[in-house]
Amino acid sequence: MHLILLGPPGVGKGTQGKRLSEANGWPLISTGEMLREAVAQDTSLGREAKTLMEQGLLVSDDVMIGLVEQRTSEPDASNGFILDGFPRTVPQADALEGILRRRGQVLDAVLSLSAPADEVVRRMLSRGRSDDLESTVRRRLVVYDEQTAPLIEYYRRLGRLREVDGLGTLDEVHEGLLRAIRDAASA
Ligand code: AMP
Repeated sequence: MHLILLGPPGVGKGTQGKRLSEANGWPLISTGEMLREAVAQDTSLGREAKTLMEQGLLVSDDVMIGLVEQRTSEPDASNGFILDGFPRTVPQADALEGILRRRGQVLDAVLSLSAPADEVVRRMLSRGRSDDLESTVRRRLVVYDEQTAPLIEYYRRLGRLREVDGLGTLDEVHEGLLRAIRDAASA
């Protein structure tokens, strides 16, 4: 299946994505992780992304679309994948539609995880990533509201949105996601 995990930073997309990936065998494609690796290896992509990430801003659509087009064409993604952190803007979502269409693939479901803003801030401040300083966290939430939250409506209109409560224990959220995937598979 081809799935997207959508939701604000700190809602648990990475953690839940890893579990879904292990449970089902689809690779988890996390654009944030890909960028953090590029930063760690000090590649030209990493150097371009580093300052933006530290400021809580987005890397350009063209760069991100190219990365995802390449990564999703690798053999391990031929039977499906879970995207975490992409798309983050409407142009990225449009580009993904085009990429999948050209390959004769469809997006099976967009799993939209939600939690109140104060809870996602608490979670981000407790994990201690270098872009998890309070000022950056606030900026990332503003960027999310402005640029990424419109994708909820975008995918609702396409009939792909599956809403899942991101509060609750890891197991409860995992179960909610599995239910949403089952519903999508039988739709
Ligand atoms: P994440 O791990 O998904 O929270 O991403 C960490 C940071 O990487 C974000 O704050 C952005 O600076 C950058 N990033 C990750 N994915 C994208 C994307 N799809 N488009 C633009 N920037 C991204």
